Formats: sequence, structure tokens, C-alpha cells
Amino acid sequence: MADIIQLLPDHVANQIAAGEVVQRPASVVKELIENAVDAGSTSIKLIIKDAGKTLVQVVDNGKGMSETDARLSFERHATSKIKAAEDLFQLHTKGFRGEALASIAAIAHVEMNTRQADEEVGVQIKIEGSTVVGQDVTVIPQGTSISVKNLFFNIPARRNFLKSDTVELRHIIDEFHRVALAHPDIHFEFYNNGSELFNLPVSNLRQRIVHIFGGKTNEKLVPVEEETEVVNLKGFICKPEFAKKTRGEQFFFVNNRFIKNSYLHHAVCAAFEGLIKEQTHPSYFLFLEVDPSGIDINIHPTKTEVKFDDEHAMYAILRSAVKHSLGQFNVAPVLDFER
Ligand code: ADP
Ligand code: MG
Repeated sequence: MADIIQLLPDHVANQIAAGEVVQRPASVVKELIENAVDAGSTSIKLIIKDAGKTLVQVVDNGKGMSETDARLSFERHATSKIKAAEDLFQLHTKGFRGEALASIAAIAHVEMNTRQADEEVGVQIKIEGSTVVGQDVTVIPQGTSISVKNLFFNIPARRNFLKSDTVELRHIIDEFHRVALAHPDIHFEFYNNGSELFNLPVSNLRQRIVHIFGGKTNEKLVPVEEETEVVNLKGFICKPEFAKKTRGEQFFFVNNRFIKNSYLHHAVCAAFEGLIKEQTHPSYFLFLEVDPSGIDINIHPTKTEVKFDDEHAMYAILRSAVKHSLGQFNVAPVLDFER
């Protein structure tokens, strides 16, 4: 019998990986901004056109890349962030899988311009569907600019699956909120079709929340703080009277990475029990700092899920800390309602 197994060519493997990493323009926004954060940028600009369908561009002032690294960054499993398996348990960066740029370049037209501080000129690379179509020198300030056009040009089914501009823009704004909240020490700008949506100066967390969600948010915020052996917790909850009928603003960050976790969400809701009406939802911005070896974030390529060694302890600490804050800041039930 003849052998029938063969290794897939890189561009095919990249396109398959892209299916998981890049669901919509917002995924590109997330990956590019996280790379800009990891590069030590103090200022990051997001420029999109037509809700990212025509263009997603991220410009940063981070450390930039050498010519060789710029070429290599588009290879799959090429990363500067980890070297060995044990590094997975000591992560200090957003990225580590080394597959975002390879995936994006497999399904879009990408142009990268990048320059390191000690170089006089930078390098420009153009890639279309995993194929390098141009390389040149470029004169730019220190940092990296990556623009992504014609997303899903070679996957018509994905392109057709994209929702209206309003919906896609909503997803992009959600991603932007998440990373902007995690990094109040970075200046963020965000433009859609030439008009400015956000211009967030360097600030602290409270100010960042207010800059994003509006001036009235300030009076709603109650600080939460708790230090224990397993977790350092800080952030803000919104006073019960501002609980919303819609889902509201609900943010968990673990080691400064936005995550979704319905179990921890339940812990916060439990702390609010009796203080808010049924069918309403509390808003919160909570940051959990844990020993990186006590969590696993390598569960899904998008890294929005985390597995904790001791989820039950986390639940109990969270619930009691939120309860304590609600009590300490004299948040009595102001709503007259039947339980
Ligand atoms: P990962 O972030 O998981 O390492 P990526 O495919 O997102 O994988 O990026 C590959 C590599 O390219 C990164 O490890 C980093 O060294 C480099 N890189 C990507 N974006 C930037 C950027 N904006 N500034 C500097 N280096 C970058
Ligand atoms: Mg990355």
C-alpha cells in the first residue's frame, strides 16, 4: 500500500491556525495592540476603516524590530517571548504562541514598517496570503506600524460571515476597552473612518475608567482592595444603585490580561445579592494578581480563558472583598423593593 500522509505546506497550516485566532476584525485589533503593549510602547494608535473590514492599522512607539526579526515575525511559532516550555508558567507578556502575525498574514494583505531606536532607517515588509511581495527600507520614527487590509480575501465564507459595520465596530470597541483598561499608563488613540473615537491620556485606573465610560462614572466607583496569599485583588465596583438591566460593564483581569469567567462573575453577583434588583447586573473592573505558576492561560488561542489552581479560594476571596467594599463605603440598599 502506498503512503498517503503528507506534511501540510506552511501557508496551509497558517490558514488553518488563522481560523481559530482571527474570527473577525476585532481579533486583529486585539493581537496587534497586544503586540504593541508587549513591545514596551508608551503610545499606541489604532486606525480602522469601515469597522476594520477595509483597514486595521496599529502604530506604536515600542522597541521595533531588526530586519531579520521583522521577516521572522511572520513565521508560525516564531516568538521572542518564550524559549522553553517552563516559560509558559512564568508569563509576563500578552503573547507567547507566536502565531498571530503568521495567521493574520495568511488571510490578509499586511504591510509592516518597523524601526529600532539605534537604526537610522527601518524596514518595510509587504505580505499577501503568507507570501512576501515586497521589502524595502523605510524612514519612520522608532516603533512599529502594521496595517492589515482585505481581511479574509482568500476565505470568502468568512468574509461573507462578517456582520454589519455597527456590530463589527462594537466588537472592536470591546477589545479596545479591555486593553486600554489594563494599561492606563499607555496613551491610546482610536480613529474610525478618520474621526476620533477615543484619545486616552496616561492616567491611573480610576481616571482611565472615567475617560472611557464618561464623567458620570466617577461618583459610581467604589474601590475594592484585598491582599491574600493566593491573590492580590484591586479595582472598582459600581455602586448597587447603578446596576443595569443590560449586562453592564464587567471586566476581570488576571495578571493584567482580560478574561471571561462565569464562576468568578457569580462570586461578584453573590456579593451584590440583596442590594440590587433581580434581573439587573452589577458593573465591575477587577484586577486579580496571582502567581503565574498557579494559572494556565494556554486553554484557547484567544487566551480569554484561565484555569486557576484553586478556583474555590478565588471565589470566596472575591465575594468577601466585594461585600466588604460595599459595606465599608456605606453602600446601603437605596432601592425600595421586595425581595
Ligand atoms: P507572539 O506575540 O505570541 O510572540 P506574534 O505573531 O504576535 O506572536 O508576534 C511574533 C513576534 O513578532 C513577537 O514575539 C515579537 O517579537 C514581534 N513583534 C510583533 N509585533 C511587534 C511590535 N509591534 N513591536 C515589536 N515587535 C513585535
Ligand atoms: Mg502577539
